[in-house]
Amino acid sequence: MKKYLLALLITVTFSHHLLAEVLTPQKVNESTFALIGEIGGRTFENQGLNANYGVIVTNDGVILIDSGASRNGAELINQQVQRLTGKKVRWVINTGSQDHRWLGNDYFLSQGAEVIALHKTVANQKQLALTQLDSVKAVLKDRFNGTKPAYAQKPINQNEAELNLGGTKVQIKYLNHAHFEGDVVVYLPQQNIMFSGDHIYVDRLLGVLPQSNATTWLDAFTKIESINPKVIVPGHGSICDLPKAKRQTGDYLKFLVDGTNKYAEDMAGVENAVKGLSNAPQFEKLANFNELHKGNISRAYLRLEAQ
Ligand SMILES: [Zn+2]
Repeated sequence: MKKYLLALLITVTFSHHLLAEVLTPQKVNESTFALIGEIGGRTFENQGLNANYGVIVTNDGVILIDSGASRNGAELINQQVQRLTGKKVRWVINTGSQDHRWLGNDYFLSQGAEVIALHKTVANQKQLALTQLDSVKAVLKDRFNGTKPAYAQKPINQNEAELNLGGTKVQIKYLNHAHFEGDVVVYLPQQNIMFSGDHIYVDRLLGVLPQSNATTWLDAFTKIESINPKVIVPGHGSICDLPKAKRQTGDYLKFLVDGTNKYAEDMAGVENAVKGLSNAPQFEKLANFNELHKGNISRAYLRLEAQ
């Protein structure tokens, strides 16, 4: 009997441990943490949590930045928050409308948390919900069960807002159309920490998707530079400072925008743009470069051409 219990205990502990490893906690300061996800794509194993999340401890509970790609994933995030802080998630702020930013909202609402987002972000979530449910379900299979889209109850109808949550000042700022329409950054002015959402990727190459706009994304990045955060929890990759964010996101966007503009002005065509810009040794070391770079050039070029 004792042996059986021990075996059971080991199994439970072990599976718990496996689940916990999807996200790696990193301390930013005494009251702020990041949960760092893998820098590759969404998989069944990583529960679609291939992104970063923020955890801010206040006097009245935890502020969570982004809610995961499914109900299951949200529960995992919540377990990690409990282990790190022992406190309840009171508020969830969505930095964007890509699946892993918000499809866990429903879970946190059911736990009594408030979901906070700008109206701009919610509008885009509503537009994309059906397609995202299909595409994430195809990856997560039965782990996606129970996931339902849910939105901030009182979306904020401005481009910027400053909130006081449990004594912590939190600014939500829309800067421009970046990776997705309605992406925002969350900034803690008292601590000079920024949760950049998908405005910033480090360690891996960013992805210009059909929904992205490289030109206005570069403008948004310039606005982040003028805010001048000391510490950045990027949307993807490890915690960084502004110079690293500039080298791996800002400079890459500038390379894409300047390069594709030149080809578009000459009406050189997308194939020539891709051929001419595919050599970019300064960014080759970033993960996913081979998979994403050429597609990024062609989507940046085609958006220019369409304008
Ligand atoms: Zn993302």
